[in-house]
Parts: sequence; structure tokens; C-alpha cells
Amino acid sequence: MFQDKKPSKTDLKQLGEFGLIETLTKNFEIKKPSTIKGIGDDAAVLDYNQKHTLASTDLLVEGIHFDLAYFPLKHLGYKAAIVNFSDIYAMNGMATQLLVSLAVSNRFPVEALEEIYAGIQLACHIYDVDLVGGDTTSSRSGLILNPTALGSVLKGQEVYRSGAQPNDLIVVTGDLGAAYLGLLILQRENEVFKVNPQHQPDLSPYTYVVERQLKPEARKDIPPLLRELDVHPTAMIDISDGLSSEILHITKQSDVGAQIYAEKIPIAPQTVLAAEEFNISELTAALNGGEDYELLFTISQKDYEKIQYRPEFAVIGHITQDKGAYLITQDNEKIALKAQGWNALKK
Ligand code: ADP
Ligand code: MG
Repeated sequence: MFQDKKPSKTDLKQLGEFGLIETLTKNFEIKKPSTIKGIGDDAAVLDYNQKHTLASTDLLVEGIHFDLAYFPLKHLGYKAAIVNFSDIYAMNGMATQLLVSLAVSNRFPVEALEEIYAGIQLACHIYDVDLVGGDTTSSRSGLILNPTALGSVLKGQEVYRSGAQPNDLIVVTGDLGAAYLGLLILQRENEVFKVNPQHQPDLSPYTYVVERQLKPEARKDIPPLLRELDVHPTAMIDISDGLSSEILHITKQSDVGAQIYAEKIPIAPQTVLAAEEFNISELTAALNGGEDYELLFTISQKDYEKIQYRPEFAVIGHITQDKGAYLITQDNEKIALKAQGWNALKK
């Protein structure tokens, strides 16, 4: 994970708005052929040629979506960028540009904002995305970050939430529930730190789950892989609010039902251990935890053999004609899926 620099403290007022924009954005290069004009004019100019344009935005508010007590600024910038790229991949497209709007109080020195932008820059580098604009203004108290990702998809290749058909298979990438356990661990360490600032947390047994919370990755690899395998999902969504909630989005918008099987849901060994420690079920973390940024999609049964041996994918269930989305437990119990959110996680 990232190492935070020891910051000096330059007052925002010293730079002024234009000086600040210049300071934050001067190291970003333009690399995508679709970026005709980036930062520096009234609007960016983009050319997606014969492709459809994809656009997605997120609003991140300090104290609501992130807590700077345990969320380092560079990680915040990185995560703010990749959660938006994830939405573009969920349409089966590729992210190409990013705009970042920022409202900041004078409690933050310039160096703090530079840390955020270092994280954004790393994400842009790794995900091959150009920063092409944004807006900067002041806020009374907290920090507000509003990234907007743009991307493109070949016409006809876009995948909506609404296309799932009865008998389609339900597939997820990666593993689920880890980011939520990472959050619980960071919150616990933060509570200990408040009581005893001398306390040096040993996070080494939890590296994977903490990293899934602090430095999540979006599945940039999946849209091109699906193309290569000649698989066109019938519906797709990214997993930001937990598997249950995303399955319900697909079933509702596709006007179908679903059955998923508990034993098929991919969960990392460290997630299971951490869940045991917090006395919650790892399955509940996977269903309701969220922030995994994996992709959930449905495919026609005829495409099954194209994906069955790929380590990226797990088939977890199927779409049904009958409405209603259910989890089938290991004891063959049938439980209705609910978008219950995080407070339902206690056993
Ligand atoms: P305007 O007055 O038209 O809003 P600004 O002076 O706010 O223009 O912005 C100048 C340029 O800097 C524009 O290209 C804008 O998109 C970009 N920009 C402003 N703030 C940010 C930011 N926080 N991050 C990235 N680019 C920014
Ligand atoms: Mg502006």
C-alpha cells in the first residue's frame, strides 16, 4: 500500500484557485487518442469516433463516504477514481477520461490535496485514463470529492442491467466480502488508537482485506476478456453495495427472478478468518458488505463452456422466470435476498 509523505503545510490562500489547479494537475499527461483537448479551456474536447460515450459520476462526502481518521488521502484519491472506472466497465466499456471536482475547507493544506491528486494520478496511470478537467471551490467544513468518469463502448457491445433472461447463468468475478471486513478492522484499530495514541496496530494478518478496503481495484480486465472469449453478457452491474442489492437491481430491471447458491459464492480465506473474529457470517459480508468493485453478470447457458475454466469467474446461480431472488443455503433452505445494508450484519 502507499506510504504517506510527512507533509509540510502550505495554506490554500497562498496559491489561490488557479495556482491550486495548476499545482494539482501539472504532472498529468494526456495519453488517450480520444482526448482532443484536456485541462485548460472551458470544456474538454473528446472524440469517440463510432463508439457510444459512457458517463458516470459519484459524490463522495467526508464523514458520510469516508473518514480521514483511517483513510489516507492518497488512497482516497485512488479509490475515488477507480469506483468511477468500475461503473464504466460494468457497461462493458473502457474508461478513458476523468474529471474531478473538489470542494475543500481551509483546514486542508495544499500538500493534503496534492496527496489526493497523487492517488488520482496513480489510478489514471494504472487504468490508462486521462484527467481532462474538474472544478475547484471552497467548503465550510469537510472535503467533498466528485469524480466523473467517461469512457466508450463499441456500438452494440454495451450491457445493461435489464437484459437477463430466464435460465441465464449468474456469474461474479473475484471474491466478495473482503472490503467490508477491511473496514471493520480499520474502524476497530481507529477506536484503539483514540484511547491509546501510542498503539501501533499490527495489520499484517489482515493485509488482503485491509487492502481491499483501502486500495480496491476495478475490473478493467473483464470487458476485453469477455470479448476475447466471445461472451456477451445479457446483463451486468458492478458490486458496490453488496451482492444481494446488485442481484435485486438486475432481477428488477430485467423483470425476472434469481437463485444463487451459498456454497458457490467466492470468499477469500482471510475474509472467513476476519469474519470469525468479528463474529459475523462471511456470507452476510459478501451479500451485504459492498465496496468489492467486482462485476456481476448474466450469460446465456450456451456460453457456459467459454468461461467454465477461467479463474476470473464463478458461476453462483441462475435466473428464473418466477420473480423473487433467493439464496439457497448449504442446508437447502431458501432465503429471500434483501438489500439490507450494513447494519444488518451483526449475527
Ligand atoms: P471555469 O471558470 O470555466 O470553471 P476553471 O478555472 O474552474 O474554469 O478551470 C480551468 C481548467 O482547470 C478547466 O479545464 C477545468 O476543467 C480544470 N480544473 C479545475 N479544477 C480542477 C480540478 N480540481 N481537477 C482537475 N481539473 C480542474
Ligand atoms: Mg471552474
